Amino acid sequence: MGSTEQKLEGPDFSEGVELDSLREGVPLLGHVGDDAAILVRTKDDVHAIGANCTHYGGPLAQGLVVGHTVRCPLHHACFDLKSGAVLGGPALNPVACYEVQRDGSRVRVSGLLPEGALTKRRPTDPGISPDSIVIVGAGPAGAVCAETLRRESYGKDIVLIGAEDPGPIDRPNLSKDYLAGSAPEEWMPLRSADFYEQQSIQFHPNDEVKSIDATAQSVTLASGKKISYGALVLATGAEPIRLPIEGANLPHVHVLRTIGDSRAIIEASKKSKRAIVIGASFIGLEAAAALRSRGLDVTIVGPESVPLARVLGDEVGAFVKKIHEDQGERFELGRKPTKITERAVVLDDGRELPCELVVMGVGVRPRVELAQQAGVQIDRGVLVDARFRTSNPHIYAIGDVARFPWPRTDAAERVRIEHFSVAERHGRAVALALIGRSLEMRDVPFFWSMHHDVTISYVGHAEKFDRVVVAGKLDERRAVVAYFDGDSVRAIATINRDDASLRAERAFETDDQAALRALLS
Ligand code: FAD
Repeated sequence: MGSTEQKLEGPDFSEGVELDSLREGVPLLGHVGDDAAILVRTKDDVHAIGANCTHYGGPLAQGLVVGHTVRCPLHHACFDLKSGAVLGGPALNPVACYEVQRDGSRVRVSGLLPEGALTKRRPTDPGISPDSIVIVGAGPAGAVCAETLRRESYGKDIVLIGAEDPGPIDRPNLSKDYLAGSAPEEWMPLRSADFYEQQSIQFHPNDEVKSIDATAQSVTLASGKKISYGALVLATGAEPIRLPIEGANLPHVHVLRTIGDSRAIIEASKKSKRAIVIGASFIGLEAAAALRSRGLDVTIVGPESVPLARVLGDEVGAFVKKIHEDQGERFELGRKPTKITERAVVLDDGRELPCELVVMGVGVRPRVELAQQAGVQIDRGVLVDARFRTSNPHIYAIGDVARFPWPRTDAAERVRIEHFSVAERHGRAVALALIGRSLEMRDVPFFWSMHHDVTISYVGHAEKFDRVVVAGKLDERRAVVAYFDGDSVRAIATINRDDASLRAERAFETDDQAALRALLS
């Protein structure tokens, strides 16, 4: 995956630093030999861990320290300062953790601790945990569930079945650097088959669960295998929608969900001069930017008058539109396509937009068919409780397919959220629930989206909002944007204000509306 690793700066912690020079909760950037590290003074201790997030190399020295944790400013991955372990996605791997010794008024890093040395794990209680766990879907949710179970000492069979080749991938990158041609192939897989072998996780790539027998507690795969489960985790994600219009299935019309989809668009882009993106959604706009950076002439078609306004509001939507226009993309807004031909997209005002390539980014639907077949309750997603249990006590659902209670919404309704780190965090939370260590999932939803060189970070969840307050200057690409529902801030979007995004996450966690409003001053 991508990396923004830093040059070595600051003191060499093996030579020691004065304890008094460390401010509580403020990471100090330095190094241990040739490795960048941070030293963090907490209330009762001093910790040293690697300086770069294992997701995209984000600078943890600029992160937020909360208790014995530090959060990455880029995508909010959370690490345990005591052990380097990942406590919250999107990171999967721990950071290095060092032994720290006090020597009078100085603290000194004395050596690297072996991975996991400080993580105390109770063996799982066989009376609580199921006899075997089968996970359907090897996206981020399913993948994190499988490896968390093993890491947390679940000792019985774990089976992970994934229909998508090659297995878990960095899906957000499919519409960003990978599609633009600036991310190499090796960044894309999250895990390899070897990893699963080492973890004794039975990984079935390129296979698909075709049916569930909820009474016998077994699944049958496309390959014909039948596998019994003590608990079943549905992590089947979502699938892209194709508009029900003539020509929607023509070979030059693509959707974008899998690495195969992204590769097919890349191949098609090499033979095309003009692309039409149908849908001014996050994925549609990101795909448009990637195709534009490959030199195509790109037009985005959408029924709304301002892209992304439903999620980000009119002002931010107009700002995003301008970013794309400044790069030469055109918009046909307030328009719907009525038909796609071999050479054009026909709009509802009769105009024909010539093109050789079409990408449809018009939304996804949760993949609920298996859940339906198993007879669990469904309502625009698989309904689960705070521990991800469906209406069948042996079946769980996580990630994009699940509709779950988010404690910070007033609405009695549950939410279904399509964010990468939320899916990973569901994976971890359900794994802990399955081995009887569950805490209700209280992680605050977070996503990011890239529009050429501008990244928007969004924390919280506003199903609806009636007021948007922009603090800072969008045209200078530095702003904090609050989404209010009545008097309550429901979500915060930021541009070049990762510090504020992290503080917003913490304020949502502690239900601190005053702190959220303070971010606007
Ligand atoms: P998925 O990732 O959809 O994985 C589900 C897996 O289950 C798939 O591999 C599927 O093949 C498999 N499966 C389904 N049915 C079966 C079956 N019967 N048997 C076996 N396997 C099965 N989120 C962000 O926060 N930020 C972003 O910038 C961002 N960018 C994105 C860009 C793109 C192009 C896309 C498509 C999504 C993006 N997202 C982003 C959303 C994010 O990737 C999803 O929320 C996340 O992948 C959901 O994870 P999941 O594990 O629930 O489902």
